[in-house]
Amino acid sequence: MSTIETTVVASDHDDGTKICSHCERGIPSSNIDLHYAHCSRNLEKCKICGDMVPKKHADEHYSSIHAPVSCSQCNEMMEPENLAVHKSQNCPQRIATCDYCEFPLPAIDLSEHQEVCGNRTEICDRCNRYIRFRERISHEVSCKGVPNTTPQTSRATREDEQGRGSRRRPPARNLSTPRLVFTIAITGIAILVGVFFFQTKPERH
Ligand SMILES: [Zn+2]
Ligand SMILES: [Zn+2]
Ligand SMILES: [Zn+2]
Ligand SMILES: [Zn+2]
Ligand SMILES: [Zn+2]
Repeated sequence: MSTIETTVVASDHDDGTKICSHCERGIPSSNIDLHYAHCSRNLEKCKICGDMVPKKHADEHYSSIHAPVSCSQCNEMMEPENLAVHKSQNCPQRIATCDYCEFPLPAIDLSEHQEVCGNRTEICDRCNRYIRFRERISHEVSCKGVPNTTPQTSRATREDEQGRGSRRRPPARNLSTPRLVFTIAITGIAILVGVFFFQTKPERH
């Protein structure tokens, strides 16, 4: 009995409990002998998780909690506790979304796709330059646009050119003025001649 006493009782506690040396739990001092007999006969400590498991369910415990499982997407074997993180963050077959076109595709193909997708260009409606998809966000922040090529300002430029054009026109009109004066003079003479004949005719009879 005295040998059992020394192995069973790992330590004495002030609150009247003793620590079972088999499961390392605090057990009321009055129950420790009975507990230890039952504990050491029926339970064993799982080497992986440290839980006390009934000896007859040890295999079941292992296969349901610790046996390697395969990822349903990539078939890689791993410990079950790692499966959730693997599927959501590490699995090469998990579905990822392209940063540029938001197309869903397996993560393993993502970098190759984004290499191509990010090099596509799209015209920026502010500066009318072709911008790579990969540079679009940084471009949108830095784009100052080009005043001459945006629709609004180009209209203003055209009006401005027209204004300057009409200001340049007077000398052109001056060139044609003598011709206009000449035409008016000829017409005037013709009218005068016509009036002359018209006035003289009635006086014939
Ligand atoms: Zn115990
Ligand atoms: Zn375990
Ligand atoms: Zn996987
Ligand atoms: Zn894409
Ligand atoms: Zn731009």
